Amino acid sequence: MDLLTLDFMLRALLAAFVTGLAAPAVGTYLVQRRQALMGDGIGHVAVTGVAVGLLTHTSPVLAAVVVAVLAALLIEAMRDRGTSGDVALALLFYGGIAGGVLITGLAGQSAATLNRFLFGSITTVDSGDLGVVVGLAVVVIVVALGLSARLFAVAQDPDFARVAGLRVGAWNVLVSVLAAVTVTVAMRTVGLLLVSALMVVPVATAQQVTRTFRATLLGSMALGTVASVAGLVFSAYVDAAPGASIVVLALAGFCLAWPVGAALRRRQRMLSPFGSEEEMVLAVEEPHTVVPEDHGHEHGPDCGHRAVQHGDHVDYVHDGHRHAPHGGHYDEH
Ligand SMILES: [Zn+2]
Ligand SMILES: [Zn+2]
Ligand SMILES: [Zn+2]
Ligand SMILES: [Zn+2]
Repeated sequence: MDLLTLDFMLRALLAAFVTGLAAPAVGTYLVQRRQALMGDGIGHVAVTGVAVGLLTHTSPVLAAVVVAVLAALLIEAMRDRGTSGDVALALLFYGGIAGGVLITGLAGQSAATLNRFLFGSITTVDSGDLGVVVGLAVVVIVVALGLSARLFAVAQDPDFARVAGLRVGAWNVLVSVLAAVTVTVAMRTVGLLLVSALMVVPVATAQQVTRTFRATLLGSMALGTVASVAGLVFSAYVDAAPGASIVVLALAGFCLAWPVGAALRRRQRMLSPFGSEEEMVLAVEEPHTVVPEDHGHEHGPDCGHRAVQHGDHVDYVHDGHRHAPHGGHYDEH
């Protein structure tokens, strides 16, 4: 423990804290969009960015930000043109790692240099790095929380969001850019290869016990922070790799929450025995009945009503009926 001078540990703890908040915040939207692996794809491409930074003797972190954002824009463009998501990701995975290793070699650096970025090196964070990490993380957190209503609408139901007048394409690009920035923020904490775990695992854990989008968002941020800080402290005591400790701890949290979530779901089924069957029937594309009702209440991610994913949109359940907002009217089931 002699190594742990106060300054060094304080910097590492602060970096872990902000990463633990920012990564699941963006991860919640990616999970919502069924793009849980997108962070991982961007992480692999950021390896090339780091290598470019090494080759050009500029900052590896800033080079990684630039390359990661370009990769995120490319993924959005490919999605728009109908390239299947997993093919686009596979290309990024292989190209990113191969490019990174190749360019690092050209830069005359050993693979060990690259390892610091692949698996994190939170214990070598200096005050300059810390400034960049904290600054980027604060931007990510402010945008993810401040624009949550819009980002949720676009992630959950793009068609409805479009009808409601939101610029879906622009908001999608924003989420992808946030993901890219988060990857480079988390690079120092958990490393590029484990970034996606911190973006996705706390979200999966929170989803076990939460019902509304906002509760999942805030819950996953709390879980991410606990895992990051506790994982770092643990790794310092037992002299293990911080990034791996953080990810293993986050996974342990999921293993604890899963039985609780399963019990909650079972209880929900017993309270409304026909609920799950009805939902299964509805999920097989049952046509809507349009009801031009005057609805005083506006349903949303945190309105408190039970939200049910139904094909490409979300229905809300209340007072014995179930419907979805659709333009100026409600589609009743
Ligand atoms: Zn409601
Ligand atoms: Zn519906
Ligand atoms: Zn209603
Ligand atoms: Zn309609």
